[in-house]
Amino acid sequence: MNIILFGPPGAGKGTQAKKLQDEFNIPQLSTGDIFRAAIKNETPLGLKVKSILDNGELVPDETVVDLVADELSKEKYDDGYILDGFPRTVAQAEAFDEYLKDNDDTLDAFISLSVPEEELVKRILSRGEGRADDTEEKVKTRLKVYRKETKPVLDHYQKQGKVHEVNGLGTIDEIFNRIKSTLK
Ligand code: ADP
Repeated sequence: MNIILFGPPGAGKGTQAKKLQDEFNIPQLSTGDIFRAAIKNETPLGLKVKSILDNGELVPDETVVDLVADELSKEKYDDGYILDGFPRTVAQAEAFDEYLKDNDDTLDAFISLSVPEEELVKRILSRGEGRADDTEEKVKTRLKVYRKETKPVLDHYQKQGKVHEVNGLGTIDEIFNRIKSTLK
């Protein structure tokens, strides 16, 4: 089963991706987690993307697409995966369509978590993970980038008939149950 978990910053993608991973035994691939680990370990990739993440902007499509294709070729993803944070631009979505085609694979579901903007800001500023991009100013940038670059990804998958809208308000378990019922 191949799933994309989609939504604005602070929608709870990471939290729900981890729960899906445990429930269905398919690995999560979070591009944000990979970039943060690379920054922490000061790898060449980390050095390249640090200032981009710190500013709440997007890593160039080519870097992200190469990274995801590379990662997905690992054996652990053979039986499926949950993408969290990718694709984040229409160009990335198109590249991912190609990737699936080249690998004779298909996308099973695109789950879009919807959460009102005031709630997103509140959640991010109160989660206290110490992320450099979790300041009020950077959150504003991330939301702006989301509206401009990422939201069109939703239309891309709507055209493919893959989108399942899920209300992202409520407890973690309530939201998880909604996701599970859309997957049945
Ligand atoms: P959030 O969804 O809360 O913003 P993520 O962990 O998904 O957090 O992403 C954090 C940052 O990592 C983004 O602001 C961006 O700089 C970078 N990033 C993650 N995924 C992508 C992607 N697919 N394309 C470009 N940049 C990305």
